[in-house]
This record gives sequence, structure tokens and C-alpha cells, in this order.
Amino acid sequence: MSDISLLPSVTAFLARDHGLYIHGETVASQSATRIAVVNPANGETLAQVADASQVDVERAVASSREGFQAWSRTSPAARASVLLRLADLLEANREELAQLETLQSGKLIGIARAFEVEQAAHFLRYYAGWATKITGQTITPSLPSFAGERYSAYTLREPIGVVVGIVPWNFATMIAIWKLASALTTGCSIILKPSEFTPLTLLRIAELASEAGLPAGALNVLTGAGTVGKALVEHPGTDKVSFTGSVPTGIAVGQTAMGAKLTRATLELGGKNAVAFLPDVPLDKAVEGVIEAGFLHSGQICAAGERFYVHRTRIEPLLEALSERLGQLKIGSPLDESTQFGPVANKPHQRKLGELFATARAEGSQIIHGGRIGDGPGCFVDPTVILARSPNDTLLNQETFGPVATFLPYDTEDELLHLMNATPYGLSASLWTNDLAKAMRLIPEIQAGTLWVNMHTLLDPAVPFGGIKASGIGREFGSAFIDEFTELKSVMIRY
Ligand code: ADP
Repeated sequence: MSDISLLPSVTAFLARDHGLYIHGETVASQSATRIAVVNPANGETLAQVADASQVDVERAVASSREGFQAWSRTSPAARASVLLRLADLLEANREELAQLETLQSGKLIGIARAFEVEQAAHFLRYYAGWATKITGQTITPSLPSFAGERYSAYTLREPIGVVVGIVPWNFATMIAIWKLASALTTGCSIILKPSEFTPLTLLRIAELASEAGLPAGALNVLTGAGTVGKALVEHPGTDKVSFTGSVPTGIAVGQTAMGAKLTRATLELGGKNAVAFLPDVPLDKAVEGVIEAGFLHSGQICAAGERFYVHRTRIEPLLEALSERLGQLKIGSPLDESTQFGPVANKPHQRKLGELFATARAEGSQIIHGGRIGDGPGCFVDPTVILARSPNDTLLNQETFGPVATFLPYDTEDELLHLMNATPYGLSASLWTNDLAKAMRLIPEIQAGTLWVNMHTLLDPAVPFGGIKASGIGREFGSAFIDEFTELKSVMIRY
């Protein structure tokens, strides 16, 4: 097989002189600094985008304040219709968006189509449904009446204001859609700041949002480095930040937000997610479980499994079967539909993975499979399996965010629980067993925002998602996101 042909619309989009998307149109940045967007599959520069300046930030915030005034006053049903139209437009432009996403991120074209576009449209429709269902409560106050007067109270859920959505590079389209949808369905306006590595699809989606009927200023897109995100969070004209990214950056963003003016912050950060196989899991199921948990999108998923605990009696055959399975993966261009494993997203990330492999070797962890990074212009990294010597090995403690599964055997369930929970993080975990009674006893003991049983990584818009401990604050999806994008106003009436 070979690479699919790029659509003419993709080639034309790449050739554009990219600006920022402010107040319903593409505008030139006031900054002379440009950031090259590089295709991680071959090292070629795809496009140049602006590194927005403070003047651009001021312009976007002013537009978003105006956009908030207009959008927050539209009816919930009108908001839902716009989001539903945008979902239709995502699907209508599926191939263009998927190709752009694969070019900028290196993700397999099949994953770009299925997750970045189709799943994103599914999430968008789910959120659109909430626009007409956000309610407060009526309350009978508990005060005694002093002189026959009465009291009544109710609560209103009001949109929080101008949201700053800071987006990482791993799912640049889908994660941006989560943020955009949460903000717009609740009546907020939003400024999206894509990752400097993957800014292209959002510039196109902003155009589609206007086409869907979104008023000017409800969605603005500022490209640029982390400093642009910081300037937006610090700005007195923004009210909330919804951030997805690494733990250190997330903590810095949270500090900036709190330090500025108690800007509300939802932080969805990484972790070091545990995967536990009980001894009853058949070998073939365990192998597929490791692939699902650790190697989907080359492990570049914040919820991916990174620490794999297997009963001592089962670990050797599992590592052998897993190595054989990984050895059969077709590695290559992400635009080739037959490729099963592509590059990682960028050179700094590839280098970081190379350094982690060196650390693993230096510490005496055993590299069972892979453990090398490519030396060509593409950002290729072997799918890698590591057997740790002890729970203290770096590879069992530091997030790799890559195609690396690190294993440790355990003997007892108490030891397993201790190992799973001995981490500052708690985004996700999975437990693999068909022993229902055991699973039910273990579930409450495992510290994670999401715990999967006999599955890993599948996110559903109806199921809340977010981290405990150092993996984040707040929840996305379900009805839980509403608390994060609205303020509760209490109204009390004496009569
Ligand atoms: P990665 O996803 O590469 O691990 P980060 O977590 O550092 O990267 O970045 C996620 C997003 O946060 C990106 O859009 C990045 O530009 C942005 N960012 C980086 N530093 C800051 C900062 N200090 N304030 C706000 N946003 C930032």
C-alpha cells in the first residue's frame, strides 16, 4: 500500500498565509514571529503560523467579551442548533480535517478520521443536547419566620464568561471540540489556543463554526507558544481556563489562574496510569489489553496505561506473546491506510523518549522489545516493552506519553493495590479479570478518576472524566462539566 492522495482543499489550505481567527474572520497577526508546523512523519515543514502578540491577545479578549454578551443571551435551543450544524459540518469535511490532522500530528489516518472527526462530532452532539437542559433548583429556606414573613429561594446556572481553552498536540481537534462544546453550550465564549505543534485544524474549524452560524467573538483562535496561553490566563478579561496537557504545565497554569484573580481552572493533566491483570485473564486477552491500554495512538493519550502489573506466574508468557505481537505491527507512514504504527508527534518528544530508554538501560531495567528511536527525519520510536527491576525504576514513575509499556510482577492482591496507588497521580487505571467478586472488592480501593474493567482508554461523552491527586482538577463530560463552565447564583426572596 502507499499514501493516500491529499485532497486539493488540504493542499490549498496548507498553502495559505495563515492568520489568527478573531471576531468571525481570519486576520493577520500583529506579530512578526512565525512558528513552523512540521510533519512528524518526514520532517518537512507544512506551514507557518503566527506566534500571537500581546496586541493580538488584547484584540481576541475584547472580541470574546463582546461575543459573550451576544452568545450568552441567545436561547438555549439556538445554541444547540449551531452546535448541531457544526457537528454536521465536521462530518461533511471529515477527510479534509483528518488529513490535516494526520499531517500535523503523525497520527494514523484511520485514527484521525474515527476519533478526531467522527468522535468529535459525536461529542459535539452530546454537548448540544445539554444546552436546553441546564437548570437550577428551587429551595425552601430553613430560616424560621420572625413575623409571619416567608422566604423562597432558587438557583440559576449562569455561564462563567470568557473561557480560555488550552489544547495539547495529541488530539488537537477532538480535545478542542470538547472545550469549545462545553463553553458554547453553557453560553460562554471561548478563545482556543492550540498547541504550537498542531495549530492547523483549529484554524479551519473556526471557519466552519462561523459557517454553522456562530456569532462573531463566540469563538476565537490564537495560535502561538505557551506564552500566548499564559497571557490569556493572566488577562483581566478572561474568566476561566480549561487546560489539557502535561502535569508541570498544568500546575503552572493553575498557579497563574489562581494568582491572577481566582480565574476558574479545570486542569486535565497526565499521570502514570496503572493496568492490573489478575491471574484468571487468558493470555490472548491480556496481550490485546496491553495493546489497547498502552499502544493506541502510540501511547500518546493522557489516559493510556503506562504501568502494567501482572501476576508473577503469568508475566513471562505474556511478555513473550506481546513482543511477538508488537513485532508484527506494520510501522510506516500515517497516511498509508495499511500502517498500524506511525511516528510520535514531534522531535522534542521523540528525543525525550530516547532519553528515557537510556535511563532505563542505565538503571538496569530490562528492555524486552524495542527501545530505540529512529535516526531519520521522521519521529519514529519503537513500540517498547520494559521489565522493571523494582517499583522505583524511572520508567514506572515518570510519564513517557509514548509507546512504552513497563511491567512489574506482583504476588498478592494487597501488594498489587499498594503498587497501583503508590503514585502522586490518579487519572485512570484498569483492572482486567472475569472474577466479578474480586473486581467489585478491588474497585473502591483503586485511586483513579476513571477505572475501567476489562477495557482501557475508551472515553464516552456521557461518562465524567478527570483526574484525582496530581492528575487534575475538575471533570469533563456527563453533566459534571456544567459545574465547571457555569457559576451558581442563589436568589432569595422575602414576601
Ligand atoms: P505537551 O502537551 O507538549 O506536554 P504542555 O503541557 O506544555 O505540552 O502544553 C499543552 C498546551 O499548553 C500547549 O498548547 C502549550 O502551548 C500550552 N502552554 C505551555 N506553557 C503554558 C503556560 N505557561 N501557560 C499557558 N499555556 C501554556
